[in-house]
Amino acid sequence: MPQKTNLKGLSREALLHFAAEQGLPKYRADQLIHWIYQKRATEIHCITEFSKELRAKLSDVAYISSLRLSNRLTSSDGTEKFLFSLEDGETVESVLITDKDRLTLCISSQVGCAMGCRFCLTGKLGLIRNLKADEIVDQVISVGGLALPRKITNIVLMGMGEPLANLDEVTEALRRIIGFVGIAKRRITLSTAGLVPKMALLAERGPEVNLAVSLNATTDQERDRIMPINRRYPIKSLIVACRRFTLGPRRRITFEYVLIEGLNDSAEDAMRLAKLVKGIRCKINLIPLNPHAGSGLKRPSEGAVLEFRNILAGLNLTVLVRESKGQDILAACGQLRAEH
Ligand code: SAH
Ligand code: SF4
Repeated sequence: MPQKTNLKGLSREALLHFAAEQGLPKYRADQLIHWIYQKRATEIHCITEFSKELRAKLSDVAYISSLRLSNRLTSSDGTEKFLFSLEDGETVESVLITDKDRLTLCISSQVGCAMGCRFCLTGKLGLIRNLKADEIVDQVISVGGLALPRKITNIVLMGMGEPLANLDEVTEALRRIIGFVGIAKRRITLSTAGLVPKMALLAERGPEVNLAVSLNATTDQERDRIMPINRRYPIKSLIVACRRFTLGPRRRITFEYVLIEGLNDSAEDAMRLAKLVKGIRCKINLIPLNPHAGSGLKRPSEGAVLEFRNILAGLNLTVLVRESKGQDILAACGQLRAEH
């Protein structure tokens, strides 16, 4: 018997093709999209808009995959972490963060990550595999259901993995998050460690989402030490790519900068940082390191963090200190490692 088709794995074009194959009119494909992405149907039998006969007919040839929730933790600050099992037994994490009137979901794009940044636990895993588009979108659908009656307002691709290392699946997932789930592209941010050639491809092919760049250092010597990707795409090439990245009106690039004691947190660093981003429409998010055992890296004191911020603010840059949320449940930046 031929394998059943996973309806959640299909783009709009592929769903139209599927409907045609089944002898169904076009509008059936849009009904499927509505039921899968808006009503969160996980079984064809739940699609009550279809007759019993049609549901039975479709169930013979197709199914709707769904992530299995295997753990859910709530932090003392309200941040929630969801651990999902995938069809092959791998696991990924998504983190839901409440911030004033926003409900932001941080999603993963890979199981593990190949980039090996020294400060990041996900990096320690190495790359296990890329997520498929449906596994990326399904984090939004599933958490969307689990979070009810609250509504997810923003999406950040800052969970496990380097999104630009999985560009095709990520851009397809983005198209579905925007077009099917209905989250506006200006409320979506993709964060990259700086895969320079892929940044241009994203601008060319991808939906126009916000871009965040994990800069994290101001000299190649420093950045080489903590982000091996810098040896391939050094700071200069990264900044050129940022300058070339097309931004919509009123949009800005976010530079993320993980502050590490004695490594990248000096006054000279702050000044060099300001110089590097000069002329780029941007904001800077300072993230004091969430340390973990064995990395040998430390978080700077609160005073040092403020001093760094003040130098940048004094140079008229928009700068925010982002306190990582959910540290008690290992949900903060760089703490995601699923159950590995
Ligand atoms: N791979 C992408 C997106 C995931 S990481 C990227 O690197 O941009 C999301 C953010 O968490 C990055 O800005 C990264 O620099 C930051 N981060 C990673 N480990 C951290 C840690 N231990 N403490 C604080 N921030 C960390
Ligand atoms: Fe990968 Fe980002 Fe972690 Fe670096 S910081 S290892 S790119 S997830």
